[in-house]
Amino acid sequence: MIDYIEAKSILSPLKGGPDPYFGIKYNMNLYRGCQHQCIYCDTRSKVYRIGDLSHIRIKKNAIELLEKKLKSLRNKGTIGTGSMNDPYMPIEKKEKLTHNALKIIRKYNYPVHIITKSNLVLRDLDILADISKTYVAVSFTITAISDSISKQIEPFAPVTSERLLVMRALSEQGIYTGAVLTPVLPFITDTKENIAGIVDAVANVGGNYIISWMGMTQREGHREYYYHKLDEKFPGIKAKYQKYFGDSYNCNSPNADKLYKVLNEKCQLNNLSQRMKFWKPDTPMQLDLF
Ligand code: SF4
Repeated sequence: MIDYIEAKSILSPLKGGPDPYFGIKYNMNLYRGCQHQCIYCDTRSKVYRIGDLSHIRIKKNAIELLEKKLKSLRNKGTIGTGSMNDPYMPIEKKEKLTHNALKIIRKYNYPVHIITKSNLVLRDLDILADISKTYVAVSFTITAISDSISKQIEPFAPVTSERLLVMRALSEQGIYTGAVLTPVLPFITDTKENIAGIVDAVANVGGNYIISWMGMTQREGHREYYYHKLDEKFPGIKAKYQKYFGDSYNCNSPNADKLYKVLNEKCQLNNLSQRMKFWKPDTPMQLDLF
């Protein structure tokens, strides 16, 4: 189901200032719901009150609200998009909310960090190249090096190999890009081969960084859906989760220590950073990067 809604605000400042992993100061959500339907998606958690994740709500006044906000905002900081939905999910091709929001961000010289799984981001390459004079980072969530696993756990998103091709294209155009290697699903993607394969692949396509956490979170609303999908796609695994994690929010892989070791060694070998470079006020991005 797809609906148009009127939004009250479009940018929400992060409590406590920029987050330590991505340096984001404001979250921008142009849509509610996400068409990619990843089985592990935390947006299904009841705390967010999103309801049915597959019910897409398009914020029809988003661009006007964004322009009004950026015109009056005194406190510049990185605008992040992609934590509650994918800003390049299929509907974006027609609706162009992300495209038009980026034009506004360019107009007011704001830094931006995009998290996506989609190749549609390439459509906006020229705008991103302009914004990169201030600061732009495009992070691709990559959780499984195998396309068939990726298809099982992220059913309506472009598979991993497609994301890597887009990362290469962005990197070749000088756009700061890398991977978010999380969630790591216990008993499914928490293997040394998977982690090593992702690091090698990201380095191979010219990615600049990998931000990782060797586990996943689970909360009410999200957990029930995930377990239902485990029964459907990975029979027998749910019982392991129930035994290991019970009602825990943080569900670290039992292999986490070994996986971090592989991650660290591989990142070092490939000269890949495990920290992102953030936008800094009055520091031209190009000087910071090259
Ligand atoms: S792309 Fe992100 S927001 Fe969309 S379903 Fe997947 S994890 Fe959730």
